[in-house]
Amino acid sequence: MILTADNYYSQEANKHYLSVSQYKDFQGTYGKVGCEEYALAKIDGSWVEDMEESDALMVGSYVDAYFEGTIEDFKRQHPCILKKDKTLMAKYEKANQMIERCERDKKFMQMMSGEKQVIMTAYLFGADWKIKIDSYHAGRCIVDLKTCQSIRKEFYHADIGHINFLAEWGYYIQGAVYQEVVRINTGVKLPFYIAAVSKEKVTDIEIIQCEQSLLDEALIEVERNTPYILQLKSGEIEPIRCGGCDYCKFTKVLTGPIWSSELLGEV
Ligand SMILES: [Zn+2]
Repeated sequence: MILTADNYYSQEANKHYLSVSQYKDFQGTYGKVGCEEYALAKIDGSWVEDMEESDALMVGSYVDAYFEGTIEDFKRQHPCILKKDKTLMAKYEKANQMIERCERDKKFMQMMSGEKQVIMTAYLFGADWKIKIDSYHAGRCIVDLKTCQSIRKEFYHADIGHINFLAEWGYYIQGAVYQEVVRINTGVKLPFYIAAVSKEKVTDIEIIQCEQSLLDEALIEVERNTPYILQLKSGEIEPIRCGGCDYCKFTKVLTGPIWSSELLGEV
């Protein structure tokens, strides 16, 4: 199957290829619990996520679309973000402020000025992977645009302590896979950068390079988990429900009461 901008997110492509977002749906990140049944439901099309439900997601997608150069298509696809006079609704004006802040910085714009939305595929750890690079500087670096609440926000987890937003949302995993897929295609291992922009009252921006040791660590984790995900995708293994995600809530069938003491415990 040849991937293009038109079929990249198609059901057929998601069935054939493994992607970082699919991987994270199965495996989870520190910030979001994985759910095998939800991941499979997304792949077979029986569960569709409604992006417009979340204003935060829409702001992020708007900024993404701007840097992709597809902002007019985005407005056509999501008319709900526009007022009658075709200007942005107040709650999405933040997105324009964020874009203006990025445009005011030469370095940020230079990092985002690579080849846009570059699609590559590679066979890795027994799977065909697909990736889409936000800004690819061939032979130089890979850049991914991320909108976040706050660039310096700390996330706390009892088992590992405080972590940054890259670890929280699995961006080292993304960097590791992108770097490796590019290496397989071109023979060159390139540095991976996050071009970060925050949704705070005053927008913060940063270009963040991922330390190679952290990417190497993440790739080992991907290598360890990929065979199991492939077995789930092929139906060899029955998926487990996380019990807590929107998909699990929506499809839950009660079989009897639970104990009140279970409410605060692990599902
Ligand atoms: Zn679930």
